Amino acid sequence: MAAGGRRKVVLAVIDSLKPEMLDQAIEEGRAPALAALRERGTCIRDCISTFPSVTPVASAAIATGTGPGEHHIPSMNWFHRGEERYIEYGSSFPATRAFGVVRSLFDTVYNMNMAHLSRARKTVFEHLDDAGLRTACTTYLIYRGRTRHDPSGESVYRRIGEVLQFRHPVYGARELFYADLFDSRNTGCTSALGLPGQRDRHTGCVGAYLVENDLFDFLLFSLPDNDTHSHKVGPEGQVRSIAEADRALERIMHVAGGVDAFLEEHAVIVMSDHSQTKVEERLNLADVFSSWRVLVPADPAPVEAEIAVCPSARSAMVYVLDPAEREGLVKQAIEALEGVDGIELVITRQDGEALVRSARGELRFAPGASWSMGAGSPGALTESRGCSDSRSATAASRATTIPMPWGACGRRSSARTRAMCSCRPRPASSSWTGEAPITSAAAATARWIATTRRAFCWSAAWTSPSARSGPSRTLRRWCSSTSLYGWADERRG
Ligand SMILES: [Zn+2]
Repeated sequence: MAAGGRRKVVLAVIDSLKPEMLDQAIEEGRAPALAALRERGTCIRDCISTFPSVTPVASAAIATGTGPGEHHIPSMNWFHRGEERYIEYGSSFPATRAFGVVRSLFDTVYNMNMAHLSRARKTVFEHLDDAGLRTACTTYLIYRGRTRHDPSGESVYRRIGEVLQFRHPVYGARELFYADLFDSRNTGCTSALGLPGQRDRHTGCVGAYLVENDLFDFLLFSLPDNDTHSHKVGPEGQVRSIAEADRALERIMHVAGGVDAFLEEHAVIVMSDHSQTKVEERLNLADVFSSWRVLVPADPAPVEAEIAVCPSARSAMVYVLDPAEREGLVKQAIEALEGVDGIELVITRQDGEALVRSARGELRFAPGASWSMGAGSPGALTESRGCSDSRSATAASRATTIPMPWGACGRRSSARTRAMCSCRPRPASSSWTGEAPITSAAAATARWIATTRRAFCWSAAWTSPSARSGPSRTLRRWCSSTSLYGWADERRG
């Protein structure tokens, strides 16, 4: 037991866990460890993911407790204004190949944590490391902590990693086990460089070692294989991959002497980062912007490009590249997006107000203002709360924790976009190469136009009319009290 007689904490994140599939896996007897935890614990089903509800954004939210407006991981694919290039975290293998496999891997393994994730927000590992607690993490997208880890080990996978230029140290949780690239100690566990299908077993193996040797107070127990399996066979096929995740949990409980003995020493939280829904139609943004000069991967003449387009499952961001042309091009981009069958909602910022538009109507709101919606509004307003200065913002940020979609693109960061769109439940903008037929249940649509320098706070909630076919979609507060340009410039310098 941890110092002071407190239980150690295991945070198990099962990627893309669909609640209905968890029920089915338990009913069929395929998930005995999860069944035992549910029986002894509390099950909370009314959970909401980030916007966009894709793994990098949601993982960063889980690790930092903030939304994308604050943690700065905006999407699966985004345009880095400082470096003037696309960032691709691995929407699909063809997409990764289009942007460069090594570059995509570098962005995912190194830059996501060391450069893209905001330094202004501590991760759970940094908080706990600072408090003197022992942190541990298996292969999880966000691992940033206070302990330096050099690539080490003598396995064949490690040598392959070296050939792929993975030679740089990182700062992570005290105990870090990341896809054979970083192993803070020799556990004898391997993951074939983090290949899908191997990662849950690797996590179970490492976790059992850590439990047996009492090496953590907090363990982020990452179980990502359910997501890969679900993308491959569809969300309805999750029972099999949930059973695999369950085996990893069972393994760490087994070394402690079974479920009850394990729970005497450990508090366990099992959660997901988002769910998934099946996508049956695709929306090709290349068609929408066929008359535009869109920046392409490895563009031979990037200065000629007018916009960057970043599809990411059921949402997409559009960046206008030339500041001098911004106003006119943003207006045209909005017109181009609004007429497209399959795009459900649009959020724009105009004259200090956020504007959510759909075929059914529009919703406007602003910092410090009350919400109001008419019968033709795009969704049902469920909460009204507002504040106008940074002191109030602090209070509001305590009261609400769900990141808003405009947090993904409204902040003064290198990731700030100019326009966003998202799709109805069925179509998806997919990836650059259209290879992601099954995607997460993304929420609404956000589109920002102007910029702002003042501190402000937004607080409200809104549920999409399409909520009946997926998890309820709620937007709440986004508070900002500092400009992040300084941080971004400092980092670039
Ligand atoms: Zn995920």
